[in-house]
Amino acid sequence: MPDVRFEHIVKRFGTLSVLEDLNLTVADGEFLVLLGPSGCGKTTLLNLLAGLLDVTGGRITIGDRDVTELDPSQRGLAMVFQSYALYPTKTVEGNLRFGLAAQKLDRAEIDRRVAWAAQLLQLERMMNRKPSQLSGGQRQRVAIGRALVKHAGVLLFDEPLSNLDAKLRTEMRLEIKKLHQSLHQTIVYVTHDQIEAMTMATRIAVMDQGVIQQIGTPDEIYERPANLFVARFIGSPA
Ligand code: ADP
Repeated sequence: MPDVRFEHIVKRFGTLSVLEDLNLTVADGEFLVLLGPSGCGKTTLLNLLAGLLDVTGGRITIGDRDVTELDPSQRGLAMVFQSYALYPTKTVEGNLRFGLAAQKLDRAEIDRRVAWAAQLLQLERMMNRKPSQLSGGQRQRVAIGRALVKHAGVLLFDEPLSNLDAKLRTEMRLEIKKLHQSLHQTIVYVTHDQIEAMTMATRIAVMDQGVIQQIGTPDEIYERPANLFVARFIGSPA
């Protein structure tokens, strides 16, 4: 799995400067959570990596490839959105297969990957259902499955659990964490939820107003917050 590097990233929307000279390295196989309050620039950073937005300045590399100018489909990433973005008219199986249609894989390989993801995410018994016949947690598992079948080097998550109720959120946190532990895939995960970050991340980058205030393991950040903002946001005892 490749590492991801953001080098001197600048992002402006017209006169609004969201990111100024941001630097961040996500190590190979790590589960990095971008954590911060709404509007601090987390999704912007993720979308720059995904290629859904263009940088104003700076460079993004994945492994030894400079992807700054590449189309999203050329970057070797898969993304899971908050809104699931499932196709309502396709079955679960159809949704899983659809992600692979553009990849020119032979049928046996597609079958193999879809069966693998279905088993991993416990979707085997609902392959013929439509998204409307699934619970919120099941839909989110399909969305994750659709990303996993791509065998992408890097998985991106944008607030994937925020539409779920509290109980499901707790369950899905553990599922995603287990998934990472078994696949060792590089994950960049955006959330404003401290508990989500603390329970899942191998490292957390705490952001405020476009600036990374601190990067560290959950324990480091909780026990030694770099400043008052981090302490308050994480809810450290200090
Ligand atoms: P977060 O994900 O942390 O909630 P965002 O990255 O979505 O934050 O937004 C960061 C800032 O950039 C906000 O002030 C937001 O209003 C602004 N912003 C995001 N996308 C656009 C856009 N397409 N055009 C103009 N401003 C934007």
